[in-house]
Parts: sequence; structure tokens; C-alpha cells
Amino acid sequence: MKVTNPATEEVIANLTEDTVATLQQKHEQLKAGQAKWNAVPLSERVAVLQKFAALLKENIEKLASILTSEVGKPLQQSRNEVNGACARIEWLTNNAEKFLSDETVSEQPGMKEVISYEPLGVVCNISAWNYPYLVGTNVFVPALLAGNAVMYKPSEYSSLTGEQIVKLLHLAGVHADAVQLAIGGGEVGKTLLEMPFDGYYFTGSYKTGQYIYEKVAPKMVPCQLELGGKDPLYIADDVADIAGVAAGTADGAFYNNGQSCCSVERIYVHEKVYDQYVAEFVKEVNSYKLGAPTEDGVYIGALTREPQLQVVDAQVQDAVSKGAKVETGGKRVEGKGYYYQPTVLTGVNHSMEVMREESFGPVIGIMKVKDDAEAAELMNDTAYGLTAGVYTADQQRAKTILSNINAGTGYWNCCDRVSAALPWSGRKHSGFGATLSHLGLRAFTHPKAYHLRG
Ligand code: NAD
Repeated sequence: MKVTNPATEEVIANLTEDTVATLQQKHEQLKAGQAKWNAVPLSERVAVLQKFAALLKENIEKLASILTSEVGKPLQQSRNEVNGACARIEWLTNNAEKFLSDETVSEQPGMKEVISYEPLGVVCNISAWNYPYLVGTNVFVPALLAGNAVMYKPSEYSSLTGEQIVKLLHLAGVHADAVQLAIGGGEVGKTLLEMPFDGYYFTGSYKTGQYIYEKVAPKMVPCQLELGGKDPLYIADDVADIAGVAAGTADGAFYNNGQSCCSVERIYVHEKVYDQYVAEFVKEVNSYKLGAPTEDGVYIGALTREPQLQVVDAQVQDAVSKGAKVETGGKRVEGKGYYYQPTVLTGVNHSMEVMREESFGPVIGIMKVKDDAEAAELMNDTAYGLTAGVYTADQQRAKTILSNINAGTGYWNCCDRVSAALPWSGRKHSGFGATLSHLGLRAFTHPKAYHLRG
């Protein structure tokens, strides 16, 4: 399997893909090793995962450089990602004993009722490339803390990072037969679906997620899907600092080149502040430095996958053909590397793909609305349900709107944000189940109810 640097189009590595035979052998190894890993006291598993975080920190420059070389994100954003993963591991490890230990829920003379959180067994994690450290951490860290063995399949676009992750997990003290790496693309993913895992945890697109859900259903094992989004924002008319909000929300749309599941994908602005917001937003986007992701100060690097250039461009062309105005950007950058200009479209509406389909690239549509009701209706007009945000001086106004939006996360005066203490969960085509928080720690367990008389 060839690994290509998206910023230079050079092949930087050749990896050996797993075969059915090697995957089966790894699965057998995990099956044999899981009980031994589960027998390690939870406090020791916590210490091992904390050591893993320390190793990430120690090796951050090397890890960031490898990540940038295969996904094209600016080096500073790669460093931020590794640091972000360490912060998540800190929360998960600090809270593991609280939420994974046996829980006595009632105690009366002669009868005690206890919930025990038992591991599922050997779980399969099929992962995405856009934040391999973060989306990986959401799954393999709590799964291992809960005493499971894990088959980790990084995306074919972030396999060098996947190799580093598994190497450091082993170095930190996770048994070799408690975590294994599966190298390959969709075909390797399909093979994993044919195998008898005890749970499937997927991060990726709606299309693949739907396929996985159908394939896994007859196995009757837990399956969680963290999928894409078409995340909306509403900027209300009482926002005082329009320039500040425009800059913050532009970052929410263009950070990591818009390749975040919770990137801001469409913005609705109250007509009273629309002109000023658009002007400030475009000014901010025009200040972004585009270029080699290894260069200091670059904010827009290369897109990770070449085909996404066509997806983004087709959305821009579709919008323009239906009357949208390109405020800035709108074209692929000529020359080597998968670069697309950060693009702002106005005069958009919901007949345009850019307002309905996930863009997963550096393009945003900004639409004028007359009031909160129109904004809420448009925000809900989507097949996805990951996040939604409202900018207003009035928290109650934001809550009234957000409580009626069918999404797993609501933001007031912020966006494109994930917290380890809060559940990360989608609805509709954004998937189901939760990672992070106490729910995400327990997502890799079966509860067993003990009725203890005596
Ligand atoms: P993808 O669906 O193309 O691939 C994801 C993984 O599935 C890869 O490891 C791939 O090899 C594997 N795969 C592909 N076809 C398969 C099949 N038929 N059977 C089994 N496995 C298969 O997604 P991607 O391009 O890697 O990721 C981008 C998508 O992920 C976006 O839609 C993004 O919004 C979403 N995402 C969601 C979250 C979240 O937390 N909700 C986080 C990150 C990314």
C-alpha cells in the first residue's frame, strides 16, 4: 500500500497490507490475550495508558511531522492534535476508576444490588484519517481501560500514524496481544466485518457507516458509528463583537482545511448584522496563509485526499450555477499538491449541494435570514445531526433554538469544540452511540446486574 504526501504528491512509504490470514492470526492472538489484559488491575491499566500519553508528549515533534507528511495538515495543527489527545487521555484515565468500577446501587439488610461493568471481549476499531490521534483515542483508550483487547485499523490515509500509535501503546505496557494493528483500506475493513469481533466502533463517512451497520447487525454485538456532519451556526442580531465572532467562526469552518466532523459547514446570519459579518468573515479568510504545511505560519495546508478536490469544486460550481456569489477563493491551486483556495459563498440557498451535503473541505456558504424561526428551520433541514451553534448575547435565546435542533451537541457562542467530559454523539446520518465522558468509558462494557442476597 502506497502512502502519498498530499502536499507534494510524492510516495513516502510502501506498507504491507494485511491479508485475511494475517488478520485471522491477529484476531486469534487478541482472543487469547484479552483475559490476561483484563486481569491486570484497573489502576495498572490506568497507569499504562498514562504512560502512553507521556510517550506521545515526549515524541510530539516526530509524531507531528509524520502526521503532517501523510495528511497535509499544518505542523502546528498536528502538534495541537497530539496535545489534544493527551488531554483526553488525562480525563479518561482520571475518571476510569470512578465509572468502570463495580457500583453498589442499593444496599438493604439481606440484599445488595451491584452493577459490574464487564469488558465486551475483542473489539474492532475502524478509524478515520482527519484526526487519527483524537478519534483513535476516543475508542482504543476507553476500550483498553475497560479490559478489552482491540484491533485498531487506522485509515489507509493515516497508517504511518497508526503504526506509531500501536508501537507506543506497546512500549507503554499494553500487552502485545491486547492491541493489534490492521493495515489496509476498505477491503481490509470489509474482512474485519466478516470476523467474530465482540463489538464494532467506527469513525468515518455515512456511506461506510451504513454498510458496516448492515453487515454487523446479524452478529448481535454492540456497534457504534461516529459519522459525518453538516453542522450549522446561527449568528443572531444582538451579537456585539461581530469582528471577533466572524474570526472565531471562520476558524471553526477552516481549521484543518474544513476536514473535521464538527467543522462549521453552513452559517445563517440575521439580516441586521449580515453585511458586517460577511465583510469581517471574508477579511479574516483572506488573511489565511496557504502553503506547504511544514512552513511556519501556514493555516491552510493540502487536502488529504485528491478526490476531495473534485467534491469541493463540484459544490462550488453547483452553487455558482444556481446564483451564489464567490466572495473569495473558488478554485483549485495550480501545481503540485492537493490545495484548494479557502472559499466563501454568499447568496446561497438549500437547493445547493453546498448547503446540504458534507463538504469536508475549505468551503462555506453564508445565508441571510430574517429571524430565529427561519434560522432554526434551516438548521434542522439536514440529514445529519452532529452539532449546531448559536451566537447571541442571550443564553436563553440560544437554548430555545438549540433545544429544538436534532443534533448531539449544542454550542452557545462557540463552535468546532470537543470536550472529554461531554458525550460525543451523532443523530440521524451522523450516527449513534457516544464516545468520551462517562458514557464513552462505559460504551465498551456490558453491564452485569448482581442481586446479592445474604
Ligand atoms: P471513510 O468512511 O471513507 O473511511 C473510514 C474507515 O473505513 C477507513 O479506515 C476505511 O479504510 C474504512 N472503510 C472504507 N470502506 C469500508 C468498508 N466497506 N467496510 C469496512 N471499512 C471500510 O471515511 P474517512 O474519509 O476516513 O473519514 C471522513 C468522514 O469521517 C467524514 O464524513 C467525517 O465527518 C467523519 N468523521 C466523523 C467523526 C465523528 O466523530 N462523528 C470524526 C471524524 C471523522
